[in-house]
Amino acid sequence: MVQLSTTVTPAKEQAEKYAASVFETIKKRNPGEEEFHQAVEEFLASVIPALAEQPEYEKQGILERLTEPERLITFRIPWTDDQGKVHVNRGFRVQFNSAIGPYKGGLRFHPSVSGSIIKFLGFEQIFKNSLTGLPIGGGKGGADFDPKGKSDAEVMRFCQSFMTELSKHIGPDTDVPAGDIGVGGREIGYLFGQYKRLQNRFDAGTLTGKGLTYGGSLTRTEATGYGLVYFTREMLAAKNETFQNKKVVVSGSGNVAIYAMEKAQELGATVIACSDSNGYIHDPNGIDIPAVKQLKEVERKRIKEYLQTHPDADYVENGNVFELPCQVALPCATQNEINAEKAQLLIDQGVLAVAEGANMPSTLEAIDLFHQNGVLFGPAKAANAGGVAVSALEMAQNGTRLSWSFEQVDAELDRIMTTIYQNSSEAATRYGHEGNLVVGSNIAGFLKVADTMLLHGII
Ligand code: GLU
Repeated sequence: MVQLSTTVTPAKEQAEKYAASVFETIKKRNPGEEEFHQAVEEFLASVIPALAEQPEYEKQGILERLTEPERLITFRIPWTDDQGKVHVNRGFRVQFNSAIGPYKGGLRFHPSVSGSIIKFLGFEQIFKNSLTGLPIGGGKGGADFDPKGKSDAEVMRFCQSFMTELSKHIGPDTDVPAGDIGVGGREIGYLFGQYKRLQNRFDAGTLTGKGLTYGGSLTRTEATGYGLVYFTREMLAAKNETFQNKKVVVSGSGNVAIYAMEKAQELGATVIACSDSNGYIHDPNGIDIPAVKQLKEVERKRIKEYLQTHPDADYVENGNVFELPCQVALPCATQNEINAEKAQLLIDQGVLAVAEGANMPSTLEAIDLFHQNGVLFGPAKAANAGGVAVSALEMAQNGTRLSWSFEQVDAELDRIMTTIYQNSSEAATRYGHEGNLVVGSNIAGFLKVADTMLLHGII
Protein backbone atom coordinates (compact mmCIF):
# COMPACT_ATOMS: atom_id res chain seq x y z
CA MET A 1 0.00 0.00 0.00
CA VAL A 2 1.04 3.62 -0.52
CA GLN A 3 2.87 4.88 2.57
CA LEU A 4 2.68 8.39 3.94
CA SER A 5 5.86 9.35 5.76
CA THR A 6 5.41 10.61 9.34
CA THR A 7 6.68 9.65 12.76
CA VAL A 8 5.88 6.11 13.86
CA THR A 9 3.93 5.43 17.06
CA PRO A 10 2.47 2.10 18.28
CA ALA A 11 -1.07 3.39 17.56
CA LYS A 12 -0.06 4.35 14.05
CA GLU A 13 1.63 1.00 13.48
CA GLN A 14 -1.54 -0.76 14.58
CA ALA A 15 -3.64 1.47 12.29
CA GLU A 16 -1.35 0.67 9.36
CA LYS A 17 -1.64 -3.05 10.09
CA TYR A 18 -5.42 -2.76 10.24
CA ALA A 19 -5.64 -0.84 6.95
CA ALA A 20 -3.24 -3.25 5.22
CA SER A 21 -5.19 -6.32 6.35
CA VAL A 22 -8.48 -4.80 5.18
CA PHE A 23 -6.87 -4.01 1.83
CA GLU A 24 -5.64 -7.61 1.45
CA THR A 25 -9.17 -8.92 2.03
CA ILE A 26 -10.59 -6.45 -0.48
CA LYS A 27 -8.15 -7.55 -3.16
CA LYS A 28 -8.98 -11.21 -2.50
CA ARG A 29 -12.71 -10.66 -2.37
CA ASN A 30 -12.85 -8.44 -5.46
CA PRO A 31 -10.32 -9.95 -7.86
CA GLY A 32 -9.52 -7.95 -10.99
CA GLU A 33 -11.39 -4.84 -9.83
CA GLU A 34 -8.43 -2.53 -10.38
CA GLU A 35 -10.22 0.82 -10.25
CA PHE A 36 -11.96 -0.18 -7.03
CA HIS A 37 -8.65 -1.28 -5.49
CA GLN A 38 -7.05 2.01 -6.53
CA ALA A 39 -9.79 4.15 -4.94
CA VAL A 40 -9.69 2.12 -1.73
CA GLU A 41 -5.89 2.17 -1.57
CA GLU A 42 -5.76 5.97 -1.78
CA PHE A 43 -8.44 6.25 0.89
CA LEU A 44 -6.93 3.73 3.33
CA ALA A 45 -3.46 5.29 3.18
CA SER A 46 -5.01 8.69 3.93
CA VAL A 47 -7.13 7.80 6.94
CA ILE A 48 -4.39 6.04 8.94
CA PRO A 49 -3.80 9.09 11.19
CA ALA A 50 -7.53 9.14 12.07
CA LEU A 51 -7.61 5.38 12.69
CA ALA A 52 -4.62 5.72 15.02
CA GLU A 53 -6.54 8.20 17.19
CA GLN A 54 -9.68 6.11 17.52
CA PRO A 55 -9.15 2.36 18.12
CA GLU A 56 -12.92 1.91 18.26
CA TYR A 57 -13.00 2.08 14.44
CA GLU A 58 -11.04 -1.18 14.21
CA LYS A 59 -12.98 -2.86 16.99
CA GLN A 60 -16.27 -1.98 15.32
CA GLY A 61 -15.08 -3.13 11.88
CA ILE A 62 -15.64 0.30 10.36
CA LEU A 63 -13.24 -0.16 7.42
CA GLU A 64 -14.54 -3.65 6.66
CA ARG A 65 -18.12 -2.33 6.63
CA LEU A 66 -17.29 0.84 4.69
CA THR A 67 -15.57 -1.03 1.88
CA GLU A 68 -18.34 -3.61 1.38
CA PRO A 69 -21.39 -2.12 -0.37
CA GLU A 70 -24.66 -2.36 1.53
CA ARG A 71 -26.18 -3.64 -1.71
CA LEU A 72 -25.00 -4.24 -5.28
CA ILE A 73 -27.66 -4.68 -7.94
CA THR A 74 -26.87 -5.99 -11.43
CA PHE A 75 -29.52 -6.36 -14.07
CA ARG A 76 -30.26 -7.06 -17.73
CA ILE A 77 -31.32 -4.23 -20.02
CA PRO A 78 -32.84 -5.47 -23.28
CA TRP A 79 -33.71 -2.80 -25.86
CA THR A 80 -34.52 -2.61 -29.57
CA ASP A 81 -32.59 -0.46 -32.06
CA ASP A 82 -34.14 1.50 -34.94
CA GLN A 83 -33.69 -1.48 -37.27
CA GLY A 84 -35.68 -3.73 -34.94
CA LYS A 85 -32.65 -5.65 -33.63
CA VAL A 86 -32.57 -6.50 -29.93
CA HIS A 87 -29.50 -5.65 -27.82
CA VAL A 88 -28.68 -6.49 -24.23
CA ASN A 89 -26.64 -4.30 -21.90
CA ARG A 90 -25.72 -4.76 -18.26
CA GLY A 91 -27.05 -2.33 -15.66
CA PHE A 92 -25.63 -1.64 -12.20
CA ARG A 93 -26.57 0.22 -9.06
CA VAL A 94 -24.29 0.11 -6.05
CA GLN A 95 -25.92 1.28 -2.82
CA PHE A 96 -22.71 1.73 -0.93
CA ASN A 97 -23.42 3.51 2.31
CA SER A 98 -26.53 5.10 3.80
CA ALA A 99 -25.18 6.17 7.21
CA ILE A 100 -25.84 9.89 6.73
CA GLY A 101 -28.67 9.92 4.18
CA PRO A 102 -30.30 8.13 1.24
CA TYR A 103 -27.90 6.72 -1.34
CA LYS A 104 -27.00 9.47 -3.78
CA GLY A 105 -24.88 9.41 -6.90
CA GLY A 106 -24.96 9.51 -10.66
CA LEU A 107 -25.53 7.04 -13.46
CA ARG A 108 -22.83 6.53 -16.07
CA PHE A 109 -23.61 5.19 -19.55
CA HIS A 110 -20.32 4.29 -21.23
CA PRO A 111 -18.97 1.13 -22.86
CA SER A 112 -16.21 0.91 -20.20
CA VAL A 113 -18.70 0.60 -17.33
CA SER A 114 -18.07 -2.49 -15.19
CA GLY A 115 -18.64 -3.60 -11.60
CA SER A 116 -15.18 -2.26 -10.72
CA ILE A 117 -15.84 1.19 -12.17
CA ILE A 118 -19.23 1.52 -10.53
CA LYS A 119 -17.78 0.39 -7.19
CA PHE A 120 -14.88 2.84 -7.29
CA LEU A 121 -17.29 5.65 -8.14
CA GLY A 122 -19.76 4.59 -5.45
CA PHE A 123 -17.01 4.29 -2.85
CA GLU A 124 -15.65 7.78 -3.57
CA GLN A 125 -19.18 9.15 -3.55
CA ILE A 126 -19.61 8.24 0.14
CA PHE A 127 -16.88 10.67 1.22
CA LYS A 128 -17.60 13.30 -1.44
CA ASN A 129 -21.21 13.46 -0.30
CA SER A 130 -20.16 13.60 3.34
CA LEU A 131 -17.84 16.53 2.56
CA THR A 132 -20.73 18.58 1.14
CA GLY A 133 -22.16 18.79 4.68
CA LEU A 134 -25.55 17.71 3.32
CA PRO A 135 -27.48 14.58 4.35
CA ILE A 136 -26.69 12.21 1.46
CA GLY A 137 -25.26 8.68 1.48
CA GLY A 138 -23.15 7.17 -1.30
CA GLY A 139 -24.28 5.28 -4.39
CA LYS A 140 -23.59 5.04 -8.11
CA GLY A 141 -24.90 3.20 -11.12
CA GLY A 142 -24.86 2.92 -14.86
CA ALA A 143 -24.62 0.60 -17.80
CA ASP A 144 -22.11 -0.47 -20.46
CA PHE A 145 -24.30 1.26 -23.05
CA ASP A 146 -22.73 3.73 -25.48
CA PRO A 147 -25.09 6.64 -26.25
CA LYS A 148 -22.64 7.88 -28.91
CA GLY A 149 -24.13 7.52 -32.41
CA LYS A 150 -27.52 6.37 -31.12
CA SER A 151 -30.73 8.10 -32.18
CA ASP A 152 -32.92 9.89 -29.63
CA ALA A 153 -35.48 7.10 -29.99
CA GLU A 154 -32.86 4.43 -29.26
CA VAL A 155 -31.62 6.34 -26.21
CA MET A 156 -35.22 6.69 -25.02
CA ARG A 157 -35.96 2.98 -25.36
CA PHE A 158 -32.74 2.13 -23.57
CA CYS A 159 -33.52 4.55 -20.71
CA GLN A 160 -37.03 3.16 -20.37
CA SER A 161 -35.75 -0.41 -20.15
CA PHE A 162 -33.04 0.63 -17.67
CA MET A 163 -35.57 2.42 -15.46
CA THR A 164 -38.07 -0.43 -15.58
CA GLU A 165 -35.64 -2.42 -13.45
CA LEU A 166 -33.96 0.41 -11.51
CA SER A 167 -37.33 1.81 -10.35
CA LYS A 168 -37.69 -1.12 -7.95
CA HIS A 169 -34.69 0.06 -5.97
CA ILE A 170 -34.89 3.87 -5.81
CA GLY A 171 -37.05 6.60 -4.29
CA PRO A 172 -36.72 10.07 -2.74
CA ASP A 173 -35.83 8.67 0.71
CA THR A 174 -34.08 5.51 -0.52
CA ASP A 175 -31.74 6.19 -3.41
CA VAL A 176 -31.58 9.24 -5.66
CA PRO A 177 -29.68 8.81 -8.97
CA ALA A 178 -28.50 11.64 -11.23
CA GLY A 179 -26.23 12.02 -14.26
CA ASP A 180 -22.57 11.27 -14.92
CA ILE A 181 -20.68 10.52 -18.15
CA GLY A 182 -23.22 9.79 -20.93
CA VAL A 183 -26.21 10.78 -18.80
CA GLY A 184 -27.33 14.40 -19.16
CA GLY A 185 -30.60 16.28 -19.42
CA ARG A 186 -31.97 14.18 -22.27
CA GLU A 187 -31.39 10.86 -20.47
CA ILE A 188 -32.67 12.16 -17.10
CA GLY A 189 -35.86 13.28 -18.88
CA TYR A 190 -36.50 9.81 -20.33
CA LEU A 191 -35.58 8.12 -17.05
CA PHE A 192 -37.87 10.37 -15.04
CA GLY A 193 -40.74 9.96 -17.52
CA GLN A 194 -40.59 6.18 -17.22
CA TYR A 195 -40.22 6.30 -13.42
CA LYS A 196 -43.27 8.55 -13.08
CA ARG A 197 -45.29 6.29 -15.34
CA LEU A 198 -44.34 3.11 -13.46
CA GLN A 199 -45.02 4.59 -10.01
CA ASN A 200 -48.04 6.67 -11.00
CA ARG A 201 -46.57 9.32 -8.68
CA PHE A 202 -44.78 12.58 -9.32
CA ASP A 203 -41.85 11.85 -7.01
CA ALA A 204 -39.63 14.67 -8.25
CA GLY A 205 -37.03 13.99 -5.56
CA THR A 206 -36.17 10.54 -6.94
CA LEU A 207 -33.82 11.87 -9.61
CA THR A 208 -31.73 15.03 -9.77
CA GLY A 209 -30.41 16.93 -12.75
CA LYS A 210 -33.99 17.26 -13.97
CA GLY A 211 -35.19 19.87 -16.45
CA LEU A 212 -36.29 23.20 -15.04
CA THR A 213 -39.94 22.63 -15.99
CA TYR A 214 -40.35 19.52 -13.82
CA GLY A 215 -38.44 20.10 -10.61
CA GLY A 216 -34.85 20.67 -11.70
CA SER A 217 -32.66 23.21 -9.93
CA LEU A 218 -31.14 26.27 -11.52
CA THR A 219 -27.30 26.00 -11.49
CA ARG A 220 -27.33 22.15 -11.47
CA THR A 221 -25.97 22.06 -15.03
CA GLU A 222 -23.16 24.45 -14.16
CA ALA A 223 -22.55 23.14 -10.64
CA THR A 224 -19.69 20.65 -11.02
CA GLY A 225 -17.62 22.92 -13.28
CA TYR A 226 -18.31 26.11 -11.34
CA GLY A 227 -17.72 24.31 -8.05
CA LEU A 228 -14.38 23.00 -9.32
CA VAL A 229 -13.26 26.52 -10.10
CA TYR A 230 -14.49 27.89 -6.74
CA PHE A 231 -12.48 25.15 -5.02
CA THR A 232 -9.39 25.83 -7.15
CA ARG A 233 -9.75 29.58 -6.45
CA GLU A 234 -9.44 28.73 -2.71
CA MET A 235 -6.40 26.52 -3.35
CA LEU A 236 -4.73 29.35 -5.24
CA ALA A 237 -5.75 31.97 -2.66
CA ALA A 238 -3.93 30.01 0.06
CA LYS A 239 -0.74 30.74 -1.93
CA ASN A 240 -1.75 34.34 -2.67
CA GLU A 241 -2.55 33.44 -6.25
CA THR A 242 -5.67 33.95 -8.39
CA PHE A 243 -7.01 32.79 -11.77
CA GLN A 244 -6.25 36.24 -13.19
CA ASN A 245 -4.10 35.91 -16.37
CA LYS A 246 -3.39 32.22 -15.75
CA LYS A 247 -3.19 29.80 -18.65
CA VAL A 248 -5.63 26.97 -18.00
CA VAL A 249 -5.84 23.61 -19.76
CA VAL A 250 -8.96 21.49 -19.40
CA SER A 251 -9.44 17.92 -20.53
CA GLY A 252 -12.86 16.79 -21.69
CA SER A 253 -15.59 18.90 -23.25
CA GLY A 254 -18.66 17.57 -21.48
CA ASN A 255 -20.75 19.21 -18.84
CA VAL A 256 -17.99 19.49 -16.22
CA ALA A 257 -15.37 20.83 -18.64
CA ILE A 258 -17.66 23.39 -20.28
CA TYR A 259 -18.70 25.10 -17.05
CA ALA A 260 -15.24 24.89 -15.53
CA MET A 261 -13.93 26.75 -18.61
CA GLU A 262 -16.73 29.30 -18.38
CA LYS A 263 -16.09 30.12 -14.71
CA ALA A 264 -12.29 30.12 -15.09
CA GLN A 265 -12.60 32.65 -17.91
CA GLU A 266 -15.00 34.72 -15.83
CA LEU A 267 -12.31 34.83 -13.11
CA GLY A 268 -9.79 36.21 -15.60
CA ALA A 269 -8.01 33.07 -16.82
CA THR A 270 -7.33 32.19 -20.44
CA VAL A 271 -8.49 28.65 -21.13
CA ILE A 272 -6.36 27.57 -24.06
CA ALA A 273 -7.45 23.99 -24.66
CA CYS A 274 -10.00 21.25 -24.12
CA SER A 275 -10.45 17.78 -25.56
CA ASP A 276 -12.62 14.77 -26.24
CA SER A 277 -11.69 11.10 -26.58
CA ASN A 278 -10.46 11.70 -30.16
CA GLY A 279 -8.12 14.66 -29.63
CA TYR A 280 -7.76 18.21 -28.37
CA ILE A 281 -8.27 21.74 -29.64
CA HIS A 282 -5.79 24.49 -28.83
CA ASP A 283 -6.96 28.09 -29.14
CA PRO A 284 -4.24 30.35 -27.68
CA ASN A 285 -6.59 33.37 -27.59
CA GLY A 286 -8.98 31.51 -25.34
CA ILE A 287 -11.55 28.84 -26.13
CA ASP A 288 -14.84 30.23 -27.41
CA ILE A 289 -17.16 28.63 -24.84
CA PRO A 290 -20.50 29.34 -26.58
CA ALA A 291 -19.09 27.57 -29.66
CA VAL A 292 -18.16 24.49 -27.58
CA LYS A 293 -21.61 24.53 -25.96
CA GLN A 294 -23.27 24.63 -29.37
CA LEU A 295 -21.14 21.74 -30.64
CA LYS A 296 -21.43 19.52 -27.60
CA GLU A 297 -24.77 20.37 -26.00
CA VAL A 298 -26.85 21.07 -29.11
CA GLU A 299 -25.26 19.35 -32.10
CA ARG A 300 -23.61 16.45 -30.15
CA LYS A 301 -20.56 16.60 -32.44
CA ARG A 302 -16.86 15.86 -31.92
CA ILE A 303 -14.58 18.64 -30.68
CA LYS A 304 -12.56 18.74 -33.90
CA GLU A 305 -15.59 20.41 -35.55
CA TYR A 306 -14.56 23.54 -33.59
CA LEU A 307 -12.15 24.22 -36.47
CA GLN A 308 -15.09 24.77 -38.82
CA THR A 309 -15.91 28.02 -37.04
CA HIS A 310 -12.41 28.73 -35.64
CA PRO A 311 -9.95 28.00 -38.45
CA ASP A 312 -7.09 29.65 -36.50
CA ALA A 313 -7.26 27.08 -33.72
CA ASP A 314 -5.28 23.81 -33.83
CA TYR A 315 -6.64 20.31 -33.51
CA VAL A 316 -4.34 17.48 -32.43
CA GLU A 317 -5.77 14.05 -33.16
CA ASN A 318 -5.05 11.56 -30.32
CA GLY A 319 -3.05 14.29 -28.60
CA ASN A 320 -2.37 14.67 -24.89
CA VAL A 321 -3.93 18.00 -23.92
CA PHE A 322 -1.64 18.23 -20.90
CA GLU A 323 1.42 18.54 -23.13
CA LEU A 324 0.53 22.23 -23.45
CA PRO A 325 2.32 24.45 -20.92
CA CYS A 326 -0.15 25.86 -18.37
CA GLN A 327 -0.35 27.11 -14.80
CA VAL A 328 -3.62 25.41 -13.93
CA ALA A 329 -4.69 21.98 -15.19
CA LEU A 330 -8.26 20.80 -14.73
CA PRO A 331 -8.72 17.16 -15.74
CA CYS A 332 -12.46 16.85 -16.44
CA ALA A 333 -12.61 13.78 -18.71
CA THR A 334 -12.38 10.41 -16.98
CA GLN A 335 -10.50 8.12 -14.58
CA ASN A 336 -6.74 7.61 -14.86
CA GLU A 337 -6.27 10.14 -17.67
CA ILE A 338 -3.15 11.56 -15.93
CA ASN A 339 -0.45 8.97 -15.36
CA ALA A 340 3.06 9.55 -13.97
CA GLU A 341 4.43 10.55 -17.37
CA LYS A 342 1.79 13.20 -17.99
CA ALA A 343 2.10 14.45 -14.41
CA GLN A 344 5.86 14.84 -14.87
CA LEU A 345 5.33 16.78 -18.09
CA LEU A 346 2.92 19.15 -16.33
CA ILE A 347 5.44 19.62 -13.52
CA ASP A 348 8.37 20.19 -15.90
CA GLN A 349 6.35 22.87 -17.68
CA GLY A 350 5.63 24.73 -14.44
CA VAL A 351 2.08 23.80 -13.46
CA LEU A 352 1.00 25.52 -10.23
CA ALA A 353 -2.26 23.73 -9.49
CA VAL A 354 -4.10 20.61 -10.62
CA ALA A 355 -7.71 20.12 -9.57
CA GLU A 356 -9.84 17.14 -10.53
CA GLY A 357 -13.21 17.73 -12.19
CA ALA A 358 -13.49 14.09 -13.27
CA ASN A 359 -13.58 11.22 -10.79
CA MET A 360 -10.08 9.78 -10.07
CA PRO A 361 -8.42 11.25 -13.20
CA SER A 362 -4.95 11.01 -11.63
CA THR A 363 -3.22 7.72 -10.89
CA LEU A 364 -1.69 7.19 -7.44
CA GLU A 365 1.78 7.70 -8.97
CA ALA A 366 0.70 11.00 -10.56
CA ILE A 367 -0.67 12.26 -7.22
CA ASP A 368 2.59 11.35 -5.47
CA LEU A 369 4.55 13.31 -8.08
CA PHE A 370 2.35 16.39 -7.65
CA HIS A 371 2.83 16.28 -3.88
CA GLN A 372 6.58 15.69 -4.10
CA ASN A 373 6.98 18.66 -6.43
CA GLY A 374 4.90 21.13 -4.44
CA VAL A 375 2.07 21.32 -6.99
CA LEU A 376 -1.25 22.33 -5.38
CA PHE A 377 -3.46 19.28 -5.82
CA GLY A 378 -7.26 19.24 -5.42
CA PRO A 379 -8.58 15.67 -5.30
CA ALA A 380 -11.85 14.78 -7.02
CA LYS A 381 -13.93 13.95 -4.01
CA ALA A 382 -13.42 17.48 -2.72
CA ALA A 383 -12.92 19.48 -5.91
CA ASN A 384 -15.83 18.07 -7.92
CA ALA A 385 -18.35 17.79 -5.07
CA GLY A 386 -20.27 20.82 -6.38
CA GLY A 387 -22.41 18.72 -8.71
CA VAL A 388 -23.75 16.42 -6.07
CA ALA A 389 -24.02 19.31 -3.60
CA VAL A 390 -26.43 21.11 -5.91
CA SER A 391 -28.22 17.79 -6.45
CA ALA A 392 -28.85 17.75 -2.70
CA LEU A 393 -30.12 21.35 -2.96
CA GLU A 394 -32.41 20.16 -5.77
CA MET A 395 -33.75 17.47 -3.39
CA ALA A 396 -34.35 20.16 -0.77
CA GLN A 397 -36.28 22.27 -3.28
CA ASN A 398 -38.32 19.25 -4.38
CA GLY A 399 -39.09 18.40 -0.74
CA THR A 400 -40.49 21.87 -0.10
CA ARG A 401 -41.91 22.35 -3.64
CA LEU A 402 -40.01 25.60 -3.99
CA SER A 403 -37.53 26.82 -6.62
CA TRP A 404 -34.60 28.94 -5.64
CA SER A 405 -33.08 31.60 -7.91
CA PHE A 406 -29.86 31.01 -9.86
CA GLU A 407 -28.04 33.51 -7.62
CA GLN A 408 -29.24 31.81 -4.46
CA VAL A 409 -28.09 28.33 -5.54
CA ASP A 410 -24.81 29.66 -6.95
CA ALA A 411 -24.05 31.51 -3.71
CA GLU A 412 -24.77 28.34 -1.72
CA LEU A 413 -22.55 26.32 -4.07
CA ASP A 414 -19.72 28.80 -3.58
CA ARG A 415 -20.15 28.64 0.19
CA ILE A 416 -20.16 24.81 0.15
CA MET A 417 -17.01 24.57 -2.01
CA THR A 418 -15.18 27.11 0.16
CA THR A 419 -16.16 25.17 3.27
CA ILE A 420 -15.02 21.87 1.74
CA TYR A 421 -11.66 23.47 0.99
CA GLN A 422 -11.35 24.83 4.53
CA ASN A 423 -12.42 21.57 6.21
CA SER A 424 -10.06 19.51 4.05
CA SER A 425 -7.18 21.86 4.59
CA GLU A 426 -7.76 22.00 8.35
CA ALA A 427 -8.04 18.20 8.63
CA ALA A 428 -4.76 17.82 6.71
CA THR A 429 -2.99 20.12 9.17
CA ARG A 430 -4.67 18.66 12.26
CA TYR A 431 -3.56 15.12 11.25
CA GLY A 432 0.01 16.08 10.43
CA HIS A 433 -0.08 16.46 6.63
CA GLU A 434 -0.36 20.19 6.06
CA GLY A 435 -1.23 21.08 2.46
CA ASN A 436 -2.14 17.50 1.52
CA LEU A 437 -5.78 17.78 0.46
CA VAL A 438 -5.97 14.08 -0.36
CA VAL A 439 -5.37 13.22 3.29
CA GLY A 440 -7.50 16.14 4.48
CA SER A 441 -10.55 15.43 2.34
CA ASN A 442 -10.46 11.68 2.96
CA ILE A 443 -10.26 12.18 6.72
CA ALA A 444 -12.88 14.94 6.85
CA GLY A 445 -15.28 12.88 4.71
CA PHE A 446 -14.54 9.68 6.63
CA LEU A 447 -14.99 10.95 10.21
CA LYS A 448 -18.61 12.03 9.76
CA VAL A 449 -19.60 8.72 8.15
CA ALA A 450 -17.59 6.53 10.55
CA ASP A 451 -18.86 8.29 13.68
CA THR A 452 -22.43 8.00 12.43
CA MET A 453 -21.92 4.30 11.77
CA LEU A 454 -20.78 3.90 15.38
CA LEU A 455 -24.05 5.55 16.52
CA HIS A 456 -26.17 3.19 14.38
CA GLY A 457 -24.76 -0.04 15.82
CA ILE A 458 -23.65 -3.08 13.86
CA ILE A 459 -25.67 -2.92 10.64
N1 GLU B 1 -22.05 12.10 -11.07
C1 GLU B 1 -21.78 13.26 -10.26
C2 GLU B 1 -20.68 12.94 -9.28
O1 GLU B 1 -19.75 12.25 -9.64
C3 GLU B 1 -23.04 13.83 -9.64
C4 GLU B 1 -23.86 12.92 -8.78
C5 GLU B 1 -25.19 13.49 -8.33
O2 GLU B 1 -25.52 14.61 -8.64
O3 GLU B 1 -25.88 12.73 -7.62
O4 GLU B 1 -20.61 13.40 -8.18
